Order: sequence, then structure tokens, then C-alpha cells
Amino acid sequence: MRAGPSQEDIRRHNLGALLRHVHLGGPISRAELTTRMGLNRSTIMALTSDLTAAGLVREELPRETGRAGRPSLVVRPESSRVYVFAFDVGPDRLAAARVGLGGAILDRREAARERGPFRLEELAGALAGFARQMRRKTRDDTVCVGAAAAVSGGVRKSDGVIRFGPNLRADEVPFGEELGRRLGLGLPVTVGNDANLAALAEHSRGVGLGVRDLIYLHGDVGIGGGIIAGGHLLGGHDGYGGEVGHMVVNPGGRACGCGSSGCLEAEVGERALLEAAGRLGRHGAAQHGRDAVRAVVDAADRGDIVAQEALGRVGDWLGLGVANLVNIFNPKMVIFGGMLREVYLGSAAQVRSRLALHAMAPQREKLRLRTSALADDATLVGAAELAFAHVLADPLEALARVSG
Ligand SMILES: [Zn+2]
Repeated sequence: MRAGPSQEDIRRHNLGALLRHVHLGGPISRAELTTRMGLNRSTIMALTSDLTAAGLVREELPRETGRAGRPSLVVRPESSRVYVFAFDVGPDRLAAARVGLGGAILDRREAARERGPFRLEELAGALAGFARQMRRKTRDDTVCVGAAAAVSGGVRKSDGVIRFGPNLRADEVPFGEELGRRLGLGLPVTVGNDANLAALAEHSRGVGLGVRDLIYLHGDVGIGGGIIAGGHLLGGHDGYGGEVGHMVVNPGGRACGCGSSGCLEAEVGERALLEAAGRLGRHGAAQHGRDAVRAVVDAADRGDIVAQEALGRVGDWLGLGVANLVNIFNPKMVIFGGMLREVYLGSAAQVRSRLALHAMAPQREKLRLRTSALADDATLVGAAELAFAHVLADPLEALARVSG
């Protein structure tokens, strides 16, 4: 016979659940926590005083209650004291942020990245340098409780190795380990796929808040995806799931960086759009990146026929890809992020007509198509949530580890 959870297990679970409420929902009264968590007042009081003693939350009298009687104390996250470092490595940019408990970005650094081979030492060195700069500006009583990075590639869950990243030109790179060593905080750096993390960010803090079934599509040079089903990210057996960019939509079509051809990414990605719009230089990308994509959308808006046709073509393939996903996963919402925001806004008619043709009616009826609310911060916000995950799972243990 298996023993049930111990008192200690229950307390740990409740502390994490309470901290999660405060972290994701912001300041909340003890009375409201009692209702939401279904626990009695004395339990909530004991939990909040544990979290207060650990320096994770503080309790304050509400400013205005408008009601007679003793007001319920408001529990707030210690946002400026407890923080994590979040990093993002995309094909065109490096970004780092210091994010407080509660999710506020307290400080940030960003630099353009040259497209080229993934130089591990140089890149980890630059990100660790950003973190040091931000750390120097913090007060003495602050505590860093975690670090995580979003990368445009497939990441092995167990050790943070980038297994494949054709658009970062990374292959079997021990990124988490190197960044952790250079940060020198004695903390591991968890690494995740950028589109997966952006999906989680939109689900917990963005346009997909409260939506249990959603698909997030992220575009930069390539197309990444994050599938949230029943409130959980689908990672697959090894954590490489959700690579919707490599769904074949056009057999025998354009060559893809993954080695296949006719992938969604090959037909919809930046290169396909710029080439169709006649904006690729003779020797490859004379002009590329988000600005180049935006320029095509702007030109189409102004009536440029070539740009309109290019967007129409890309929108057709995008719609076909989305129709497949909608048929299989029946999401309530599909979110377009990264450069796909612009592409979708410029080709929504094609996307919708493809959906009308290829998505099954029951799956399509309540489907909402949206653009990312967190925009270019989605990947960083997602990385911050990944860095906070272990604190929310076991707040006191996590804090003891960093301050001990
Ligand atoms: Zn591919």
C-alpha cells in the first residue's frame, strides 16, 4: 500500500500554489486567496507568513476597501527583491533581461547578432556580460533565484544542449552549461525552444490567457511552434515536439534548412517571402530580418502588386499549415508571433480562405486567430517563466538553495 502525501508534501504544494497566484495574477487579498484556493483562513495565513518570512511576498493593508470591518491584507510579490535572468538567442538578436517575481521586466539589454556560425564562447560571454551589468545595478538585498534561455532550435531537455538549430547554425552545442559557467551564480541555466517558451508566455500572460488549447506560431528566419493542449505544452517524448515549421505542406517544394523540402518553414519563412517579393539580392540576402519583412507588408499595403502576390502566396501556405494543425489539435486559438505577426496581418484573407477550404467545420467554428500580445518580448517572458518554474514548484527549498 502506498502512503498518501505527507503534511510536508501538502504544505510544499500549497506554498507553490499560493506563490503562483501572486506571481501570475499580481497582488491579491488573503480573503480572495481563501476563495480561490479553497483553503481556510488560518491555512492561508500560515502559508503567507511562511512566504513572507522567506522574503518572497509581503503583506500590506489595502489602500481603499470601501467596506466596514477589518480589511483583508493584500499579498504582493517581492518583485524588486527576487528575480531571475532570462535570455533569448535568435538568428538576429541577443537579449537578456532581469525579471522580477510577478513577471515585471526590471532591466534589459539587447544587441544585434550577425547571422553566421554559432560561436559558443563569444555568445555566452556576451550574455553573461549583460547579466553582470544588470547585476551591478541591483541593491544588496536582491536575490537571483534562477536563469533560463530561449533559443531558436531544438533543445535536449536533460542538459540544455542545442541539438539542432539550422537558423542559428548550431549543432550539438552545450549552451546551458557554458552560459551557467560564465554567469558564475552557482545556478544552472535551463534552456528551451523559443517558440515553445513564447507559447507558454502567451498562455500565462498574453493573448492566450485562460485558453487551455492554443497553438502559437513563431516566425523569424524559420517557423517554430508551441502547442498547448489541455493547459500543458506538448513536448513529445524527448522535448523536441511542436516543430510545426517542418510539417511538409508542399512535397517536392522549396529546400528547407532541416534537409527536407516543402516544409512550412521553407514555403512561409523569411527567405520565401523576400524571394517571392523580388527582394533577395543576387548573392543571397542583401536585406533581411524583421525590417525587410515589414517593408514587404508595407509595400503591399501601398498597392505594390509584386509584394501583394508574394504575401498572397506565403499566406496560402500558411493557411494550409494552420488548417492541418486545426484539424489535428482543435485549438481554440492560433497565435501568430515574431515576423509571422506581420505576415499574418498582411495575408489574413488567404489564411482564412485556406482554413475555409481545408479545416473541418467543427474545428473551425470557434477558432480565433490572433497576433501575439507580448510581441518581441514573448520569448524572454517565456524564458523567465521557465527560470521561475522550480521556485513555484517548491518556494522554500529553491530559496534555501540560493541563499544557503
Ligand atoms: Zn524543414
